[in-house]
Formats: sequence, C-alpha cells, structure tokens
Amino acid sequence: MAGMRGLFIPGPTNVPDRVRRAMDIPMEDQRAPDLPEFTLPLFQDVKKIFKSQDGQVFLFPASGTGGWEAAITNTLSPGDKVLAARFGQFSHLWIDLCQRHGLEVEIVDVDWGEGVPVERYADILAADQGHKIKAVLACHNETATGVTSDIAGVRKALDETRHPALLFVDGVSSIASIDFRMDEWGVDIAVCGSQKGFMLPGGLAILCVGPKALDAAKTAKCPRCYFDFADMIKTNKDGFFPYTPPMQLIRGLRSSVDLLLSEGLENVFARHHRLGEGVRRAVSAWNMKLCAKEKRWHSDTVSAIQLTEGFDSNNLIRHAYRRYGLSLGMGLAKLNGKVFRIGHLGDLNELMVLSALGGVELALRDVGVPIKAGSGVGAAVEYFHQQGVALSAAA
Ligand code: PLP
Repeated sequence: MAGMRGLFIPGPTNVPDRVRRAMDIPMEDQRAPDLPEFTLPLFQDVKKIFKSQDGQVFLFPASGTGGWEAAITNTLSPGDKVLAARFGQFSHLWIDLCQRHGLEVEIVDVDWGEGVPVERYADILAADQGHKIKAVLACHNETATGVTSDIAGVRKALDETRHPALLFVDGVSSIASIDFRMDEWGVDIAVCGSQKGFMLPGGLAILCVGPKALDAAKTAKCPRCYFDFADMIKTNKDGFFPYTPPMQLIRGLRSSVDLLLSEGLENVFARHHRLGEGVRRAVSAWNMKLCAKEKRWHSDTVSAIQLTEGFDSNNLIRHAYRRYGLSLGMGLAKLNGKVFRIGHLGDLNELMVLSALGGVELALRDVGVPIKAGSGVGAAVEYFHQQGVALSAAA
C-alpha cells in the first residue's frame, strides 16, 4: 500500500523518530563501568513521570501483564485477600492473574462503561474491621471501555476508613498521557508498560513502588524469582540489572522520557485532553455513543465507540485495515462486534487525529453505516480550531 498507514489502536503507539534512532545502537556491555552514569539518572527521571519522589522505579523486561504479576507476587502471600472492581477486559485480567496466584479476590462487578466504584470500595473497606483486605486494586484507565477512574477517590476511601491496605494501580494506558500522581494519591505500586504513553515498543514493564510496598516485600510469601524486587534493588542501586537488560529499549526510554519532560507533563496531558475531546466531538456528530457512560469517566487516551445497531464492528475494523491501512482497536470480550476503539495517545497531534477520523468516516460509509461524510471530521476541526485560537491568545 502506498503512503502511510495509520496506527490508531490504544497501544502499541507510534514511536517518535528520535526515540527510534536512540534505539538503533550497537549491542553494548551491560556491565560496563560507565553504565551507571546512564542508568542511575534515568531511574530518577522516570520517577518524575509517575510524579513520585518517595518511590523506586523498576524496569522489568516484560509487558504490563508482567508488571501486574510483579506487583502482587512481591507484596502478598497466598490466601491474602484483595479488593478489585471488574468493569472491562483489563480489570478482569488482573483479577484473573491474582486468582491464579492463589489470592482471594473480593470482586465488585460494575457495568462496563463505569469506573472504579469508589463508594462501594469505601463501604467494603469500612466493613472490613479485621483488615483482611491486604491490597486494593484499581485500573486507572480501562482500555477496553475508554474509562478513566478516580484514583484520588480510592485513596480517600482508604484514608477515611483508616484502612491499611496497599493501593495498587494499573496505569498501563494512563501514565505518561493522563495526569497521574503517585505520591499525592498515596499509590503504593503503579504499573505501566512501555508501549503506550512512553511511546516505545512493547517489552518493558515500568513500575514505581512506594516505601510501604517495599516494606511488604520483605515478608510477602508469594513465590517469585524473575520479578523479585529484592534482586532488582540489589543490582539497581549500583546502576546494573540482575539479568540481561533490553538495552535498546532502555536507551529508547531515556529518549522518550526526555521528550515527555521537555514538552512538560502538564502540556502532554493537555494535548491528550484536546485530542481526546476532538474524537469525542466526532463521535457525537456521527450520532454514536461512547462506552463510557458519563463525562467524568471519559478517557483522554482511548475512546471505545458503540457502533450503530445492526452493524458488526469487526467488519468495520477489518475493512478499515484492508482498504485504508487504518488500524483501529477491536471490541474486547463482551464488547466484541459492538464496539470499535480509537487510540489517541502517545506521539500524536491534531493532523494525525483528523486523518484517523477521516479514515473512520470512509470505512463507515463503505460498510453502509448512515453517517454524513465530513460530519465527525468537521466537528473535530471546529473544536481544534477553537482550541488553537485559545492557545495562541494565551501564548
Ligand atoms: N492494563 C491495561 C489497562 C492495558 O491496556 C493493558 C494492555 O493493553 C494491560 C494492562 C496489559 O498490558 P500488556 O499487554 O502490556 O501485558
């Protein structure tokens, strides 16, 4: 196919040229005496992306799923109780992983399209007088439904009930794109992956672990080896790793962190909000609805869009890919066939979003969905125009 292809799945995201070039390096000596000059400042700078001073960053050669596993196996013991809400495929999968590790999960099932039920969490924590719940899990941004949850609210529920449980947050599709405040929100472990907001290929589980979780790791009995924090701590303190590190990815991480910090995190978040809102304007103009039921849950990194009744979203997605080289996210699990997702995160700007929206309109028209050509693109153009005027006035 001539010309560019459009990658608009919610991760992996586009890798900026500068980051790609930073990874195009000869193999290097992972025990070189000067490696710590590179790694030690990097560990510190990655913490800035999590907005953490108190935490410790770990880079595991894994994907986000490995990060989930590292979080729970390092801090909990078989039979421990954890509290988790299920409202999409990724919150479901983390629960499944906990159960397979022998943890007892108190599951709160919530309609897909809603977020972490903060009030229900507060009630359950208040009722848990014996403090049997050792950890509370929260998926900050449910990528399957395009729902962002209120993590500060979960912290408040823990504080108000004076519950000592650890707070673990899945920030795989939020961190480095949406505001995330590790220390301020009292998050004990935040899990991220390299392939979304960090704009890298998949392959790094990026964790930030607070002091309380590091303490819990000293007595936790879940079996672990590859993901053991203790081995990482021992070697990371001198700037090395307990086993062969994926140096290309880690060099790329240096570059992506530099990009994020030079744009400024607040600007990165504002850009994601602007682009997400442009997509939402288009969705309304197509007379479609988001999966996210309320504005407070709208995700600035991914929109899960309910396709007009009577049409198969898999067919739409297949057609967009084959005919136009446009990759969209599928509807996952019970949303399969009903929903298509537009990822709007990472190295992205207005032009790219408009090309995706134009591609979606083409594909929608081709498969017979009755939308007015240009309606969504027009709504997004108008919104981006207004935002541009406001931005130039502020400059
Ligand atoms: N959590 C969320 C919110 C995700 O979106 C994903 C993947 O898309 C994961 C966890 C799992 O991450 P990975 O596929 O990197 O293992």
